[in-house]
Amino acid sequence: MSSAPEDRFDLIVLGAGSGGLAASKRAATHGARVALVEGDRVGGTCVIRGCVPKKLLVYGSAIRHLIHDAPSYGWTVEAARPDSSVLLSHVRAEVDRLNQLHLGFLAKAGVELVTGWGRFQDPHHIAVHPGVAGQESASHRVLEGERILIAVGGRPHRPMIPGAELAWISDDLFELPRFPSSIVIVGAGFIACEFACILNGLGVQVTQLVRGQLLRGFDRELADAVREAMEADGIHIRLGCNAAAISGSPGALTVTTDHGDQLNAEGVLLATGRRPFLAGLDLGAAGVSVEQHRITVDADQRTSVPHIYAVGDVTDRINLTPVAVDEGRAFADSLYGNAPRQVNHQLVASAVFTQPELATVGLSEEDAREAFGDEEIRIHRARFRAMAQALPKRGPQTLLKLVVRRSNGVVLGVHMVGDHSAEIIQMAAIAIGMGATKADFDRTMALHPSVAEEFVTMPNG
Ligand code: NDP
Repeated sequence: MSSAPEDRFDLIVLGAGSGGLAASKRAATHGARVALVEGDRVGGTCVIRGCVPKKLLVYGSAIRHLIHDAPSYGWTVEAARPDSSVLLSHVRAEVDRLNQLHLGFLAKAGVELVTGWGRFQDPHHIAVHPGVAGQESASHRVLEGERILIAVGGRPHRPMIPGAELAWISDDLFELPRFPSSIVIVGAGFIACEFACILNGLGVQVTQLVRGQLLRGFDRELADAVREAMEADGIHIRLGCNAAAISGSPGALTVTTDHGDQLNAEGVLLATGRRPFLAGLDLGAAGVSVEQHRITVDADQRTSVPHIYAVGDVTDRINLTPVAVDEGRAFADSLYGNAPRQVNHQLVASAVFTQPELATVGLSEEDAREAFGDEEIRIHRARFRAMAQALPKRGPQTLLKLVVRRSNGVVLGVHMVGDHSAEIIQMAAIAIGMGATKADFDRTMALHPSVAEEFVTMPNG
């Protein structure tokens, strides 16, 4: 099948999220003729219903702490109360602004945006259907691509419990007219914990159901510090508890737990993980292999079909925006910029924007002990109340932790719970990426008075 010249492209990118935007703009800048296919708004999860609006809500929620602390600094604050309808509408306006900005960036790079949902017809042809995702439309356009990049991301996954359709997923929260007065949150990962803190800060009564551990996979001591702080802040965390069923009607829901308890709330959030969004792609028509819901790729982002590539959450490796962006750019630079490179998936820093914030790079204490043995691992930590809390006399303790390899002093992990920990750990990631030792940290002059200075003054004993 040969297409009209206007429908023929060097590269078709499916999905205008972080990975797809980065790859399409970079490839077009290198001179490729690029079509970017997107059925939703441009920006993807990060811009539309993830990182960006979430972080704005975190700022809005954390103002509660500032207001609470203000009198100890001599400020009189009267009648301060949150109005989530105002906050949400301001956040949506900012998302609209960013959406427009991204449309402008695409036009400037010379990428052709094709609106609709892409579906493989064969390994080189994509039918783009306008309308609802997964539904075919008679008015579709067919594009032909020499290469195709799949960057369609992921979607929240609802567990199969009775009444699951009555609950919100995280996407829904950004579209609410206002937040509810009470909520049950199911899950204990990034999204569940971040929203538990956001909503609690905005005056919502929060109950969180945790079937196993809070923030599983993170350094346990840090996860415990976050849990203690969340509980002290008024979040009701039920450990070893899951939702068995949801009933009622919107605004008046009941969660029946696996212990048989009944919890009433205005809303329920299912934050139980995300899955690659493969529905409607018809990968079989192209022969692209999928394993356990994810598209498998090699170190060059290549799928089982040599001219078809995939980046970002659809490959379910490290599901973070900067990783998808780097994968997209590496793909474009390698194939269109004559600068082949592979992405380094090691030592990726990450943060959970709970209140207090948790940030980390490198190995947790548990993973380091597992990898090198107990004898080989030395832990250095500082736990203290930051100076900002001296006058208010409240707030969670700050925790700083270094995981060090005993035989050569190399710092394997840097972890923190406390204010600005994401900003601080971003810098620490440079040091440990360069192979810094504990002696390198010790040699660094402290910046006083700061919280981060504790990282370079930890005793060696
Ligand atoms: P996560 O994988 O982080 O957490 C999923 C949580 O849901 C876990 O606590 C898991 O429990 C629990 N869970 C899974 N299935 C069930 C079930 N059937 N019943 C009850 N609980 C269940 O997923 P999220 O949705 O929070 O986030 C998805 C991804 O998005 C993250 O992994 C991250 O990559 C990215 N993200 C990053 C952010 C950031 O960088 N700050 C913010 C938000 C998302 P268990 O541990 O027992 O399996």
